[in-house]
Amino acid sequence: MQEEIIIVGAGIGGLTLARALEQKGIDFQLYEQADSFEALGYGIQVSPNVVRVLRQLGLEQQLEEVSHLCLGFELRSFNSNKVLAKWKLDNDVPYYQCRRADLHSLLFNSIQDKSRIHFSRGLESYEEKDHQLFLYWQNSEPTAAKALVAADGVRSVVRRSLLDAVAHGGNPQDRAASLFFQHQAQYAGYAAYRAILPFQDKYRPLWGKATVWMGKNHHVVVYPNGNEQNSTSWLNLVLVVKDKNWNEQGWTIPADKKAVARDFANKSEELNEILEDMVASPEPCFKWGLFIHQPLPYWSRGKVTLLGDAAHPMLPFQAQGAAMAIEDAYVLADYLASERDIEKAFIEYQQARIKRTAKVQQVSRNNANIFHASGVKAAIRNFALSLVSATMPNLLNKKTAWIYNYPLTIDE
Ligand SMILES: Cc1cc2nc3c(=O)[nH]c(=O)nc-3n(C[C@H](O)[C@H](O)[C@H](O)COP(=O)(O)OP(=O)(O)OC[C@H]3O[C@@H](n4cnc5c(N)ncnc54)[C@H](O)[C@@H]3O)c2cc1C
Repeated sequence: MQEEIIIVGAGIGGLTLARALEQKGIDFQLYEQADSFEALGYGIQVSPNVVRVLRQLGLEQQLEEVSHLCLGFELRSFNSNKVLAKWKLDNDVPYYQCRRADLHSLLFNSIQDKSRIHFSRGLESYEEKDHQLFLYWQNSEPTAAKALVAADGVRSVVRRSLLDAVAHGGNPQDRAASLFFQHQAQYAGYAAYRAILPFQDKYRPLWGKATVWMGKNHHVVVYPNGNEQNSTSWLNLVLVVKDKNWNEQGWTIPADKKAVARDFANKSEELNEILEDMVASPEPCFKWGLFIHQPLPYWSRGKVTLLGDAAHPMLPFQAQGAAMAIEDAYVLADYLASERDIEKAFIEYQQARIKRTAKVQQVSRNNANIFHASGVKAAIRNFALSLVSATMPNLLNKKTAWIYNYPLTIDE
């Protein structure tokens, strides 16, 4: 087989890259460890920076058909249910919220040549020897590749091999840097409970926005999913709690819903009713440990690069993990189309993306402290939010413009 670019991981990042490469006529093969395509997960927020990429990929209309249009955010106190801030979005590109499975499916379905997608292919490691790249698979013979893009998620095996390879070779500066960095993402000390409910009329006040309740060591994000015109709608819940005990990550750990409702009982009748509905609902609620990694000093070495959570795992408190994976994919495809030397393209891609994603990782961490503040810190937060909301309503848009209005390296 002629050597091609190999993408590992058919998550949101890997599929977006596959779509972008196919559109540009660049050959690739995509390998996924799962046995088949599984569109998993509950809600996902798709901010304007992502919508702009999906527009370029010809997928905006399909996204709109399955999405709820979010016009702004409402921040409330968990302790009093007081509305602390109302924030109306002012971007010229929509902010959507949809079921993650719908986003995943539309990306998968957009790839014309499905013979390029291979399931049950888990990568174990790779090796670059005499300018040749070899990939070692769990249940099959090693293969040679022109280049490797690792979109293999938060537990990336390629990140491990990449840091190992540099630790035992490379220049002294890189060696020192890679020894300093942990290979694996670390448990961040938070558990997220994720649930979804069929949308009911009584939830109508929550339509058109995302509502966040903030309290000591807890916060809850609630937003609708689905376009009422074309599909069924849901109410998506993410309930986050500080939890020192280590928690696993995955769609396999059902939570004790009654215990969750007890733990998150609060001063909002509306939210308490939603929690009761969650307990009564036949849909499971999943417990999900949150993992992070400090920003890496590099993602690209030789013929290998990282993308998405493999490169920059982050807390979901700015709703930008998948967004950054999608941006990465689009920018990388752009460099691969314009630079014939793949190693150079990988370095240019890294340079274009590494500072932005590190900043988003940091903002997501900072939001944890803001959302979970207590005592004097919470009082200051509440006062500042109320003041800004009343006197400078556009400040929150200005503060997030660098995230949502990100200029892609392409003509729009
Ligand atoms: C509670 C919560 C809420 C979130 N909400 C949002 C949100 O609203 N908006 C947003 O933008 N982001 C959100 N995120 C973050 C988002 O889910 C992730 O950042 C995103 O899924 C990362 O995509 P990825 O393609 O990099 O990795 P993944 O989605 O993890 O995909 C990795 C793929 O690689 C495969 N794989 C792994 N290892 C191998 C291997 N060795 N060989 C072959 N295949 C392999 C996996 O099976 C998987 O299919 C949220 C996260 C959480 C936890």
